[in-house]
Amino acid sequence: MSSSNTSSHHKNNAPAADGAEHKVSNFLRQIIEKDLEQGTYASRQWGGGPGDAAFHDAGQPDPAKIRTRFPPEPNGYLHVGHAKSICLNFGLARDYGGVCHMRFDDTNPEKEEKEYVDSILDAVQWLGFGWQSSFNGKTEQHLYYASNYFDFMYRAAEYLITAGHAYVDEQTAEEMRVNRGDFGKPGVDSPFRARSPQENLARFRDMRDGKLADGAAVLRAKISMQSPNINMRDPAIYRIRRATHHNTGDAWCIYPMYTFAHPIEDALEQITHSICTLEFEDQRPFYDWLMERLIEGGLLKAPPPRQYEFARLNLTYVITSKRKLAQLVNEKKVSGWDDPRMPTIVGLRRRGYTPEAIQLFAERIGVTKSDSWIDYSTLDGCLREDLENKAHRGMAVLDPVKLVLTNWAEVFGSDGYTEDCTQPALPHSAIAEGQTPPPDRVFKIGKDVWIEREDFEEVPPKGYKRLFPGNVVRLKGGYVIECTGVGAKDADGQVTEVHAKVIAGTKSGTPGADSVKAKAAITWVGAADGVSAEVRLYDRLFTDPQPDAGGKNFLDALNPDSLKVVTAYVEPSLAAAKPDQKFQFERHGYFVADRTDHGVGGKVVFNRVTGLKDSWGK
Ligand code: ATP
Ligand code: MG
Repeated sequence: MSSSNTSSHHKNNAPAADGAEHKVSNFLRQIIEKDLEQGTYASRQWGGGPGDAAFHDAGQPDPAKIRTRFPPEPNGYLHVGHAKSICLNFGLARDYGGVCHMRFDDTNPEKEEKEYVDSILDAVQWLGFGWQSSFNGKTEQHLYYASNYFDFMYRAAEYLITAGHAYVDEQTAEEMRVNRGDFGKPGVDSPFRARSPQENLARFRDMRDGKLADGAAVLRAKISMQSPNINMRDPAIYRIRRATHHNTGDAWCIYPMYTFAHPIEDALEQITHSICTLEFEDQRPFYDWLMERLIEGGLLKAPPPRQYEFARLNLTYVITSKRKLAQLVNEKKVSGWDDPRMPTIVGLRRRGYTPEAIQLFAERIGVTKSDSWIDYSTLDGCLREDLENKAHRGMAVLDPVKLVLTNWAEVFGSDGYTEDCTQPALPHSAIAEGQTPPPDRVFKIGKDVWIEREDFEEVPPKGYKRLFPGNVVRLKGGYVIECTGVGAKDADGQVTEVHAKVIAGTKSGTPGADSVKAKAAITWVGAADGVSAEVRLYDRLFTDPQPDAGGKNFLDALNPDSLKVVTAYVEPSLAAAKPDQKFQFERHGYFVADRTDHGVGGKVVFNRVTGLKDSWGK
């Protein structure tokens, strides 16, 4: 995609004007551009916060060209699917001179918790977005809670009753289910459908005043039981539920249904483009019906918000159902919500994915109107693209075996002698014009160094270029050496020590560096200054690309090898990492200092984010 380079270097908080023109267009951008061109929302007023028609009427012309919102229910941790929705809603508002509201859809009293509210706010900010607007020197915070709109929702319900558009139904749940009909069968009118508005109003107030038991009655919109769209067959809009709400406490024993609450939330906040996932497509006719009724009644102002649906994100090897993610945590299949194998935003963050990579990913996968699966490798590709020029390089030996340079004292005068080696932190290609390169890394070479076990073969296979008896290789950034053979083996015949001879005068960066030709350069860490590190090698959590498709039990597809912990040696520049700092371990891939455990008790802990090349197809 031609736009990818531009967007990957696009700063989060770049000015709005810079945004839209570099982005790949999609159906939502086209709708917004058309609305802006036609001035669909140009006449809107903004009262300075959410409110009804009268409130906004008393306000100013809305300085925001469009308003979008991100409306999670605070009932769990956000995942990579929500990240797509966040990047989309906040990104569109940013690109078109609008505002995106951060709204908690907390109308359901049973499931919501403060812990989730905090983690959601944190996730949105970490991804690089905020809910503050600044127009004409005036700053506003657009952090809203749907439960603050309960009074208006109740008023809207009473209005619908009075205008003959809603009734209290006292059928049993089973009768209601049967009388709703199904796809091939029209519904049947409830015997309570013909009640007068006065009777309905009295009964609805009985519901509100706690005179009816939970489930004894519901308020329903009066539309048509014959509608081909089942969602239009007199949907329930209020139910009785005695539950303490985290915000409103015990003030209410009736609560609005989602399908009634959501359009009202949008309208009170003057949302222009209400973007949701495809499963809400069948709800759109009710959304529009409700908006028309409340505008007719003068409670809301035209033009109403409009709902648009896009395909939710499905990622291979990943589960994005909050319930199933909770199951992984509760059944201890992972260490918690922030386990680096989890697709939660806290998990991705701890794993080492960057906000820039996730934003680039959201941009690259685009928005469509039909469901599809995105290959996980797309996300890793975005990470590599983001870190390629940013992550400092370093050497780490993940499967260490000792290499002894047996002639060390002969060449340098003593076994204890060490020498500094230097290597650039970033390759020349990663330094932009005019940018000062970061200081070089410095590490020590001495008699003993750590090398990768796979870099030595007693009897080399054909074409093998690394260490075997008689072969000459370079210790990267250090000296050229000639392998002399096995130094020691353990009882199982495993090599525990390799021997070689250092060749004097061949150090990298000195005039004699090229005097002896090496067959290969291998990575290594000096025993003198190498630091022992715990390295967590993560792999996909599931072995099946679609672990929960078609009713499969996703737990059957858990990858038993999704985490391998090794004790590695790393060079000093890596050991000095700050938590969350990312590196490219030469030849191994991208790693991050674990944000929770690194540095605790002096321990050095790294997580592998991803390898240097795509391995998802293998
Ligand atoms: P879950 O089904 O995992 O519980 P949800 O849709 O119920 O998720 P909400 O808190 O209601 O979670 O979601 C907030 C917003 O995120 C909604 O606008 C929703 O459409 C969007 N969203 C949720 N999952 C995805 C996904 N996989 N892809 C894109 N958007 C998503
Ligand atoms: Mg939901």
